[in-house]
Amino acid sequence: MWPTHHRWARFRLNCALWRINFERATGYHSLHRYNRIPETAGTVKQRVTKVRDEIPDLKDWWTDLNNVYSTVLQQAVEQIATNIENLGKLKENGYSVGSLNWKSPDEYRSFTYRQRGFELDEKSGPNGRGTLTLKKVNGDNIDVPIRLHRPLPDDTDVKHVTVKKDRTGAWYACLNVEQKAPEKPDPAEIDTDDTVGIDLGILTYIHDSDGRQISRLDLSDDRERLEWEQRTLSRKEHRSNNWESQRRTVAEVHKRMRQKKLDFKHKLAAFYTSEYDAVFVEDLNVKGMLEGKRNGRNTHEVGWRDFITILEHHGRKRGCHVVEVGPEDTTKECNQCGVNTEKPLWVREHSCPSCGFETDRDYNAALNVWERGLEKLGVVHSEATTPAETATAVDTDDFREVSASRVVETGSPCLKEPAVAGE
Ligand SMILES: [Zn+2]
Repeated sequence: MWPTHHRWARFRLNCALWRINFERATGYHSLHRYNRIPETAGTVKQRVTKVRDEIPDLKDWWTDLNNVYSTVLQQAVEQIATNIENLGKLKENGYSVGSLNWKSPDEYRSFTYRQRGFELDEKSGPNGRGTLTLKKVNGDNIDVPIRLHRPLPDDTDVKHVTVKKDRTGAWYACLNVEQKAPEKPDPAEIDTDDTVGIDLGILTYIHDSDGRQISRLDLSDDRERLEWEQRTLSRKEHRSNNWESQRRTVAEVHKRMRQKKLDFKHKLAAFYTSEYDAVFVEDLNVKGMLEGKRNGRNTHEVGWRDFITILEHHGRKRGCHVVEVGPEDTTKECNQCGVNTEKPLWVREHSCPSCGFETDRDYNAALNVWERGLEKLGVVHSEATTPAETATAVDTDDFREVSASRVVETGSPCLKEPAVAGE
């Protein structure tokens, strides 16, 4: 959201946030009322509904409340209801829980419109940006220019809008959309050409069975900057104004790094799930158990899991199977003859002593992942080719090296082109 350039809107939003927090206090008033309803009066849900239905009365009683759209207000109360219910569940499960801890006001940075109270126009804003109209923000309807991080898919309904102020002071609108997921193709009808195996690695982020090598995202500049900003922060007097503004700067750098990583993963996932009918990856849960905690893989694993989750999300959205396969010996096993060879981490080549198959270590692993995926999903090999035969067709020279920065800059098209010299 860009209320920054529209002081009026920003002022309104800040007022609204302040006011809604004030009204959350009213929510606590509701909670107080809730606590006074005897348990015999009904289930938790019934009792919460009773309190919620009192809101219109409350509004007469406290005229200021009329300035806030009623669904927003209900959300605030229902949030409290959810908290109560969750506490109840914990209690049922034998956890000892105290009473609800009230958060300090500065932890409230968001409010939600449910179903109604907002309008989204994707194109009417300046520079082709969209406009989000929020009703009764501190008494007035306001138009806030927004930039959609990605276009909304066709045939979607925006169900909820959460307006959020993050720790850097930037405003966001999170749109919760409902969309019917497309059907995934029947495995029996999938062509092996439309499937791919992916090996997630440390040096090369992705090596796939079609010969793409995608480098790891280089964040060294950002890390340096972060260290520098953190050192500066540690020299400021704790809680002073300077400290507070420096804290924001640090949060800003953190956020940018997080967004870069996410953006990179989303672009890769979007490419693979739209280019293929099925994508195969190793099951990292099993892999972790097999390998134990060593090689410093665990820090990388967090990122890989994240990527797989994103991949699955895009798979659901685009009707692409994302299948996790057994990771046992994907690196050791020769894809051509199946013989296992011990391979320390620093050996980057696969060179089979049994059949003489030579290729990149990660490529061999990607082929194994692919083969296992085909079997697990039940994809029938088209014609008479086995993965092993296809494997020889992709020579090491044919690998398409793609730098992560190019993925970030140009998105998926660069993953389809042949490698550009010098990358
Ligand atoms: Zn072999």
